[in-house]
Amino acid sequence: MKKFIIGNWKMNLNVHEASLFATKLAQDVPIKRGVETVICPSSLALSPLSLQINHRQMKLGAQNCYWRDEGAFTGEIAAAQLRGLAQYVLVGHSERRHIFDEDDREIRFKVQAALRNGLTPVLCVGETETERGEGDTAHVLGDQIVSGLLNVGSDQIDDVLIAYEPVWAIGSGRTPEPNEIEEAVKMIRSQIGHMFGRNAATSVPVLYGGSVNLANAESILRAKGVSGLLIGGASLIAPEFAGMVQIAADVLKEEKDG
Ligand code: PEP
Repeated sequence: MKKFIIGNWKMNLNVHEASLFATKLAQDVPIKRGVETVICPSSLALSPLSLQINHRQMKLGAQNCYWRDEGAFTGEIAAAQLRGLAQYVLVGHSERRHIFDEDDREIRFKVQAALRNGLTPVLCVGETETERGEGDTAHVLGDQIVSGLLNVGSDQIDDVLIAYEPVWAIGSGRTPEPNEIEEAVKMIRSQIGHMFGRNAATSVPVLYGGSVNLANAESILRAKGVSGLLIGGASLIAPEFAGMVQIAADVLKEEKDG
């Protein structure tokens, strides 16, 4: 199964800086069969980077989209407008849920807008520290998956990626133990199985995100059921990001060689 290494640049780098950084990545990031490398710059940089990058080396993702295809929605960017510029779009990132109050309904509409417009949604789910402390992780993940994928057809589920991102791990320098990641990924896959059947439960890529760096990437990529990484801070350090692409390729090779 393919591995995904996705870098979320968040609200960092202006268009010029993004272009310079993409030049660095072009030098460092290896092209590996079976590893899909994706960078998610600010929306402003998507257009210039789409002309700059080698699409065999890296793909582009947007960090957000609006769910209507056009109209009087000042300041928003429609999934329809991302078409041709990005192949992926993050949906329901914890910063969107918690800082911008995105709710499950809006997130569901965004997943559908992405699919309707030929983009692969990366649906981000994850529990807060309080929810984890109260033993609510399974419940929270189950709800977010059900709600986010509610109107996704069984013919569309293959075009969806899930990112398990515990809210407390994002940008904090703290990560769950690999066995805790395995457990959460299993819950996510089991919910997908209930909704879309056993094949989907195993084939939908489930990534992990939250304080991933070059030092912990390997143990996380080796966790059972983990199909890749969604990386924030460390994706802005070219050798770290490139190193993680290489690790994903090595882990994939070992899995194939059995
Ligand atoms: C993220 O932005 O999705 C993320 C996981 O950030 P960080 O790697 O910095 O924790």
